[in-house]
Amino acid sequence: MPKSESSINPFETAKRQVDIVADMLGINGGVREILKHPKRELTVNFPVRLDDGSSRVFTGHRVQYNMARGPCKGGIRYHPQVTLDEVRALAAWMTWKCATVNIPYGGAKGGVICDPKHMSTGELERLTRRFASEISSIIGPEIDIPAPDVYTDSQTMAWIMDTYSMQKGYSVPGVVTGKPISLGGSEGRGEATGRGCAYVVREAAKDVGVRVKGGTVAVQGFGNAGSVAANILYDEQGAKIVAVSDSKGGIYKADGFNPHAVEEHKKKTGSVVGFPGAKAISNEDVLETKADILIPAALENQITAKNADRISAKIIGEAANGPTVPEADEILFQKKVVVLPDILANAGGVTVSYFEWAQDIQGYYWPLAEVNQRLEQVMVRSYGDVHKVATERKVHHRTAAYVVAIQRVVDAMRIRGIYP
Ligand code: GLU
Repeated sequence: MPKSESSINPFETAKRQVDIVADMLGINGGVREILKHPKRELTVNFPVRLDDGSSRVFTGHRVQYNMARGPCKGGIRYHPQVTLDEVRALAAWMTWKCATVNIPYGGAKGGVICDPKHMSTGELERLTRRFASEISSIIGPEIDIPAPDVYTDSQTMAWIMDTYSMQKGYSVPGVVTGKPISLGGSEGRGEATGRGCAYVVREAAKDVGVRVKGGTVAVQGFGNAGSVAANILYDEQGAKIVAVSDSKGGIYKADGFNPHAVEEHKKKTGSVVGFPGAKAISNEDVLETKADILIPAALENQITAKNADRISAKIIGEAANGPTVPEADEILFQKKVVVLPDILANAGGVTVSYFEWAQDIQGYYWPLAEVNQRLEQVMVRSYGDVHKVATERKVHHRTAAYVVAIQRVVDAMRIRGIYP
């Protein structure tokens, strides 16, 4: 029986990606082994009191993949399908992501197996506070700094910051990023992932010869990253947003949507589906929509060997983590589709997280224009670093980003040496 796409183990994918680049760079032996193993993993099982008075045990993980370049950094996701291998893969990707954009962090990730869509705010608060307490011994501004990810947000971060601060006896804003502004969050953090993605798409479009102004865009996953990328491509770069989707389905309109109106509709009804004047399409159809630019902004394993051949976009900006499986990368490379990999295309989020942490530690906060200007500088420079390697080595942009990132991590590991 063919392996179903959902059974693709993301950590196997992550290790394969390391092997490909380690082969290219001649990295072998112990160094290669370290790159394929998480440094530290913590699994916790903990009870949460539910609204009906009963209690339930939840399982969560925090994986710290590599801290050669600095404290670990990465989000926490709440999702029924969280697995330890998925968290390991995401922690590895955070390591390479921070190195690709050259911010002084290692990589980590957390996940709690739960269904946040069917939990009340009170239940989510109790779950978050207890999980924060369970992992408090391994997080902190100098060790590991969590942030939002799938189905967690600034409120989740506020609860973690408060729980950690209560345990310490003083406020520690730098323990998490993606906080509300009133608690030491950064201007621009909320839209940083989508904004960063729009910047690298713009840069790649110049090299590929695609016109973003008037060009067509399809967005799979109209959540935080996807909707912001759509808004910025539409507002600031004049693109036409022709297809969008969320977990309930997709919509299409040949002459384009105003993404702000779609956002309003989603806020009111809970989905983009049913947007007036749009043709209903499936979530998978969105990937295959005729468009110049495709932004996968949902979950992993969406672009596979099955549908890669049917993708018409010339540029794919991976706002999600891990949306393309390695077989699909090869097919797309043969078709001359430029895939801007997740560790570059969605690194705007962690970049502004870095700005937030730096502001918290200094107790000195920057205006929005400064945040966005510095974000743009980081994204443009990082795209340039990756594109240079892709051109020189004649490899696709994912491999090029891994070359840039893994070389930086290995340099830090080598110069530090092995303790003792
Ligand atoms: N969860 C986001 C990511 O995957 C942000 C991580 C962070 O800001 O630390 O990049």
